[in-house]
Amino acid sequence: MYYTIDIMEKPFAIGIDVGGTKIAAALVDCHGHISARSFALVPSDIDTEGVIALIGAAIAEARGDLSVDRIAGIGVAVPCFVDTEEQQLLHCVNLPLAGCNLRDRLTQSTGLPVIMHNDATLAVLGEERYGVARGLNHVLMITLGTGVGGGLFLDGKLFGGARGLAGEIGHITIVADGDPCPCGGKGHLESYLGRAALARKAQEAAAGPEGSGILKRAGGNVDDITAETLLEAAEAGDVCALDILRQAGDLLGQALASFVNVLNPELIVIAGGLSQRASSLVEAARARLREEWPPGIIDVTVATGQLGNDAGILGAAALAFSPTVLDALAS
Ligand SMILES: [Zn+2]
Repeated sequence: MYYTIDIMEKPFAIGIDVGGTKIAAALVDCHGHISARSFALVPSDIDTEGVIALIGAAIAEARGDLSVDRIAGIGVAVPCFVDTEEQQLLHCVNLPLAGCNLRDRLTQSTGLPVIMHNDATLAVLGEERYGVARGLNHVLMITLGTGVGGGLFLDGKLFGGARGLAGEIGHITIVADGDPCPCGGKGHLESYLGRAALARKAQEAAAGPEGSGILKRAGGNVDDITAETLLEAAEAGDVCALDILRQAGDLLGQALASFVNVLNPELIVIAGGLSQRASSLVEAARARLREEWPPGIIDVTVATGQLGNDAGILGAAALAFSPTVLDALAS
């Protein structure tokens, strides 16, 4: 076992969500209530030591003057591939953290146990402990934001696969030789559902008469159309914008149907910034999944996340409270 915790003596944990542009930390009690927060912006030219210093400062601020004797540990959600057994950061897209011994550095500077995992995987743990998936044992999460991430909570544990890397749902192939993906691949789910992909679709539509409403919102300049422009147009009822989101949702629904085939989850949580803004996308995904898997054969619910931007922080804190939820550390 990684470490044991007496919740009565140590009723707090620090959860920290390290992102490519911001770092958010919180002091969380064992019921998932946040009692203090801290927040830092990450400069784009930051080096490894700079990121570690920012993380350390965010932890110190969230802790305040609470004694370390009252804190179970620190959970860290990172936008990286994490070898959970060795607690090593293998690959990080947006931050220079790969290969640095973050766990040991933070343990030395805080005197507290530290445990790390991928941010999307910890978001599913947050929803399972404190949010929409509370008490369930078989949950698939997909996060829609700049990228498309995923997390698997199966048989009551976080499922990591051989090295803790399972759940990279955004990079499954959904269209053979399809649109380019930021990872370098083609036809991946993120090629159609990431922010860059949605912006590209909106720009393509704006070249024709059907996309005139979207173009107008960008001041008549196609290059200024972003995913945000598309979301705003959809919120205002623009038919073309709604259509683009529905098509993306339909592809998502097809992908989810495949996951239902393999994993038989009882709940699929669609979370992340985009999910809160694009109800037509979520509804189209739900409708496609219902077509593929009519109710009564496999009953799977599709819901949006309940914790919003706090899912990563709360999942990280939950991991600090119960590290054995990682299969790899359970023996
Ligand atoms: Zn990809």
